[in-house]
Amino acid sequence: RKRCFRISTGSKQWDSILLGGFQSGSISEVFGEFRCGKTQLAHTLAVMAQMPKDRGGAEGKVAWIDTEGTHRPERIMQIAERFGLDPHTTIENILCVRAENSDMQHEVLCQLAEYFVTGEYRLLIVDSLMALFRVDYIGRGELNERQQKLNQHLSKLCKTAEEFNIAVFMTNQVQSDPGASALFAGADGRKPVGGHVVAHASTTRILLRKGRGEERVAKIQDSPDCPEREATYIITTGGIND
Ligand code: ADP
Ligand code: MG
Repeated sequence: RKRCFRISTGSKQWDSILLGGFQSGSISEVFGEFRCGKTQLAHTLAVMAQMPKDRGGAEGKVAWIDTEGTHRPERIMQIAERFGLDPHTTIENILCVRAENSDMQHEVLCQLAEYFVTGEYRLLIVDSLMALFRVDYIGRGELNERQQKLNQHLSKLCKTAEEFNIAVFMTNQVQSDPGASALFAGADGRKPVGGHVVAHASTTRILLRKGRGEERVAKIQDSPDCPEREATYIITTGGIND
């Protein structure tokens, strides 16, 4: 078995609840409302994955499937500067592909295997998993087909993580069902979209929510080896921080 590693988040609190960071060989999922910092965390991880191992990195390249058009090289450069990495080299080590629909999202993933065989890649980001699937399969009648396609996509993500010992990091949205939120009243009532297909594929699941002022809160909801603890964090020019 290939040796597992963890990629630091750039925040001491986050790293501490994750016992060092996001793990290779499996899928990790963060989910939460808009502006909770899912995409900012993705940018931070894309930099951290390139850091030396003794500073929480994996000394590897990063692949990024962008489904919402929210990848920003300028942000990568700013975060790289915080950690003393060369901004231009850091950008060059990130292979970002924009997917326009859910079929393309899956196709891009399949094509990335060509890059992963080189052994240089340590992190794969999918930001976000469900956005295109939710647009492409709208009706109730299409739900079965959507879940089938989604399952194929997630199986491939799992295999990719295991076969190449890559950390797969994906972001997800939450259900905006007013009935459900009234019923559960509170952050813990927020459910990620995608149903049990996604729940089954994600080895580690983390809920993000807004806290006091600029503060954000991350809470582990599902993990094979981390207790259900919370971390507070902020979003800065240099990425996720305490
Ligand atoms: P999500 O992907 O969860 O919808 P984002 O990761 O896009 O959310 O986070 C959006 C938040 O990040 C906003 O509150 C925004 O103010 C903050 N943000 C974006 N860029 C910066 C920056 N350079 N410095 C500080 N905060 C930033
Ligand atoms: Mg986002």
